[in-house]
Amino acid sequence: MTLRRIVEILRTGQPDDAVTIRGWVRTKRELKDFTFVDVNDGSSLTGLQVVLNKDLPSYADIIAQINTGAAVEVSGQLVASLGKGQRIEMQGQTITVHGGADPETYPLQKKRHSFEFLRTIGHLRSRTNTLGAVFRVRNACANAIHQFFQERGFMWVHTPLITASDCEGAGELFAVTNLDLQNVPKTKSGDVDYGQDFFGRPAYLTVSGQLEAEIMAMAFSNVYTFGPTFRAENSNTSRHLAEFWMVEPEMAFCNLDGNMDLAEQFLKYLFQRVLDQCLEDMEFFNQRISDTVLSNADAIINSQFERITYTEAIALLEKSDRTFEYPVSWGLDLQSEHERYLAEELFKRPVIVTDYPVEIKAFYMRLSDDGKTVRAMDVLAPGIGEIIGGSQREERLDILEQRIQAQGMPLEDLWWYRDLRRYGTVEHAGFGLGFERLVQFMTGMANIRDVIPFPRSPLNAEF
Ligand code: ATP
Ligand code: MN
Repeated sequence: MTLRRIVEILRTGQPDDAVTIRGWVRTKRELKDFTFVDVNDGSSLTGLQVVLNKDLPSYADIIAQINTGAAVEVSGQLVASLGKGQRIEMQGQTITVHGGADPETYPLQKKRHSFEFLRTIGHLRSRTNTLGAVFRVRNACANAIHQFFQERGFMWVHTPLITASDCEGAGELFAVTNLDLQNVPKTKSGDVDYGQDFFGRPAYLTVSGQLEAEIMAMAFSNVYTFGPTFRAENSNTSRHLAEFWMVEPEMAFCNLDGNMDLAEQFLKYLFQRVLDQCLEDMEFFNQRISDTVLSNADAIINSQFERITYTEAIALLEKSDRTFEYPVSWGLDLQSEHERYLAEELFKRPVIVTDYPVEIKAFYMRLSDDGKTVRAMDVLAPGIGEIIGGSQREERLDILEQRIQAQGMPLEDLWWYRDLRRYGTVEHAGFGLGFERLVQFMTGMANIRDVIPFPRSPLNAEF
């Protein structure tokens, strides 16, 4: 008997193959002379149907233990299936029940559960069809991200999770400290004495690895980060997490056009890879979660993204007969409703909006000659809104310093960032993709908390 993953058996198993499988019971159906057991080991949406005949030794005893949720190991012969819905099934010969699951208390009985309920059993929900499919897609997508960059010579760089620079704007930062919160040391003037803290200065969980990625791009040309980032977002939305994964490529000798090209190729590549690897899961999402999952994927892969400037976007929004909750005018940031109108209704495909007003964007984005806009880009996706935010970076020291000061930030704190413009500066660009937003977009899942195994959001860190 060879131990095999169920996904392989379903794909390539042949009648008479003698195999062993290990997994968890999803359902059991008892008939007069035999019992059907659906076993799933997480390798695919579909499980393997195991048939147990009543002449097996200790049949009654075993059947009593094989309840939904039980961990089992079954050996037997594969046979062509007579039932519809599967090509092959197993005639079980030896069964070990490693751990039972009491049907009176095991929460995942056969009925459909709401995602809200499943979040309250975060330790068990990965055993459901939908969450199982989500996490397989998540895995395939993470792998494809590395493949995409590695094939193109990008180096994966590991940027710190703990940082002392507060660059993206305060308020959303989690502090990192080992001061005794019951007895916080104070300076003479009554402020917290960070000199006594672990790092001798305030420290935070990172909101982005970009600034460090820029350091690495100035040595390795093309780099990317892929790791967790943290934002103390107080907004309880279906698109924000307090802990999420971000992908951030950074390219030296690259301008905004190169950046947009990369972002478009990147998304096309990821969708294609996930469709190739997880077609069954993607078809499941299309059928059960949102019927636009496959057409969306097709639109990403096969249509050119629309590219418009912020100024053009504002004109289009002003011309539209829709009334928006937040009225638009040049200079205001685009809200989710505007982003979705553009991507979903107007263009019906991803839209890259570029050249935003300088006032609403970060200090490091490259100022254009008009003095009013910066070379920023956001990729807006139907159904989601912003999925990627990026820019060409300001590589000119004098202008960078003016921008830092204009935002009221102390120049000294960014001495090393400014040094990059002093020594071997060159035009460069990059973007940040929210990994969970991408998985949401791919799968059609409505809430971002259902595309990460252990979501972190306000008042929620149980599992
Ligand atoms: P938003 O306006 O949606 O809050 P943002 O402008 O704060 O996004 P960026 O700072 O540009 O986002 O971050 C880069 C990417 O990270 C975003 O395009 C988005 O995909 C993702 N992202 C940002 N905040 C979150 C969050 N709290 N949870 C999950 N993903 C996020
Ligand atoms: Mn935000």
